[in-house]
Amino acid sequence: MAGNDTLTVGVLALQGDFREHLAVLRGFGADAVPVRRPEELDSIDGIVIPGGESTVIDKLSRIFGLAEPLKRALAEGLPAYGTCAGLIMLSARIVDGIAGQESLGALDIDVRRNAFGSQTESFEVDLEVPAIGEPPLHAVFIRAPVVERVGDGVKTLATLRDGRVVAVEQGNLLGTSFHPEMTDDHRFHRYFLDKVRAAR
Ligand code: GLN
Repeated sequence: MAGNDTLTVGVLALQGDFREHLAVLRGFGADAVPVRRPEELDSIDGIVIPGGESTVIDKLSRIFGLAEPLKRALAEGLPAYGTCAGLIMLSARIVDGIAGQESLGALDIDVRRNAFGSQTESFEVDLEVPAIGEPPLHAVFIRAPVVERVGDGVKTLATLRDGRVVAVEQGNLLGTSFHPEMTDDHRFHRYFLDKVRAAR
C-alpha cells in the first residue's frame, strides 16, 4: 500500500491477458503490479483477475499457494475486478467447469463457462451500462461466460438484449463477461479504481 495518493493495484499474473490490464491501470496513474506470490497480496489496495483460461488460472493459483490467501483477502474486503475467466474465478459456482475446477467464491453468482458455444466463439456488441453512463460501451466477448444466477446482494450492471447478465457488482467486487482491457474504452477500470480508492 503506497503511503501517498497513488493506488497500488495487483493483477493476477499466472496466465491470460494480465499485461493489458497492467497497462490500462498504469494509464490511470495506478501503481500496477503483477501478483504471482501470496506475499504480494499484502501490499495491494485491489486486484484484477484477467481473462484467459479459468481452468489454468485455477490450477496455477492452487499450485502457487495463492488460492487460499486470495480467498481470505477477498473475504476481508480486498476490492477485485474479474474479466471473463477472472469473472469465473470470482464466482461462487461454476456451471460447465472441468472436473475438479474451483473458484474463489467471492461473488454470489453462478457463472456458465463458454456460454455462447463454439458457433459464437467471439463477438462484439454495444452495451448500455447505466453505472458508467453514456455512450454505450463497445464490449468484446471471447469464449465468454454468462452469469446464470445473481445473488441477493449482487447488482446487475449490464445485460445482453436477450436479458443474459454480463456485468455485475457486489460491494467491492466487480465482474464482466467481456474484456474492456482489449478496447480503448476503459470506464470499467476507472469505475473499479474509484471503488479501490473508496475502500482504502
Ligand atoms: N472460456 C474461458 C474460461 O473458461 C474464458 C475466456 C476468456 O477469458 N476470454 O476460462
